[in-house]
Order: sequence, then structure tokens, then C-alpha cells
Amino acid sequence: MALLRIRKYPDPALKQSAKPVADIDAGVNAFLDSMAQTMYAAPGVGLAATQVGDSRRLVVIDTDHQNPGKHLLKLINPRIVEAEGSIVWEEGCLSVIDFSAEVKRAAKVLIRAWTPEQKEIEIEAADLQAVAFQHELDHLDGRLFIDRLSRIKRELYRRKLVKMLKEGKADGQPPSHVRI
Ligand SMILES: [Zn+2]
Repeated sequence: MALLRIRKYPDPALKQSAKPVADIDAGVNAFLDSMAQTMYAAPGVGLAATQVGDSRRLVVIDTDHQNPGKHLLKLINPRIVEAEGSIVWEEGCLSVIDFSAEVKRAAKVLIRAWTPEQKEIEIEAADLQAVAFQHELDHLDGRLFIDRLSRIKRELYRRKLVKMLKEGKADGQPPSHVRI
């Protein structure tokens, strides 16, 4: 199984809004497996189909660093049905190289989604897992975490990126170990 190519900001594919999956078939399941493999190889704790240039509402998440694969979630058409509290988390993203920033999110979320086994499930998530869900669902709506920062912060990053790319210095090294 080949690894998928992760799109990097400012790739326009990252701005696409993904469409719901109508049939959970073998093709969808195989693609979720490729997404999971790509996420672990990156390494990251979450990956949305939008990040690999696919327009279906698919995400994979595994926030358990200690036991990779044990708590892997492969979700189809995930959505947030309840959110409460607030939390500030230093976020990084596999699609935004050499940058991380604090983002305010809901502290707890209730997610409803379909599994590869065609079951509808609910997941209660808190802390990093809640942050990861909100970050991935943003990707499915064509939004990056830097879109949630102030214009000044986003512009400073954009300039830094342009400079790094020009100097050939942008190597995609993670600023932190948690990238979503
Ligand atoms: Zn991301």
C-alpha cells in the first residue's frame, strides 16, 4: 500500500469542502487504511482526506502515542453533535510546515460518525482527542488552524514560509511531536 502525498499550505486543495460518503464500500475502507498508514509514517495523530487531496468526509485519528494502532479510529462522515467548555492547545498540522500556535477549542465534544463496519457510533472526546477531532473536522470544511489565528499571526507565518521556501530551508521538520 502506497503512502499518500500530504498537501501543504498554501495548496488550494486544502480549501476544498469535503462531501459526505454515500456508500461505505471496499474502496473507502482501503483508502482509510492508506490514510492511517500515511498518518503513522508522518508521524501525526490525525489526518483528514482533504489533506491528501481527496474530497470525501473521512478522517483517521490516533492520539495514543504509547500504543500506536491500538486506539485507531477510522471515521466516515464524522460530525460534532455536542461541544462544551473551552481549552487552549498548542496545535501543529501535517499540512502547515514549521509552525505551531495556540488555538482555542471546545474542551469536550461528542462525535457521531460511521465506521468501516457500517455502524453508526458516538464518541466522547476530551483534551487532545477533542482538539484533534475539531482540527480534522475543520480540514473537511476546508479550514486550517492558522485560519483561526489573528490576521497578523497568519501573515507573519505566511512571510516566514515564503522566505523559507525561497531559501530552500523548509524541510517540514515538526516544531512539536503533536501534529494533526
Ligand atoms: Zn491538520
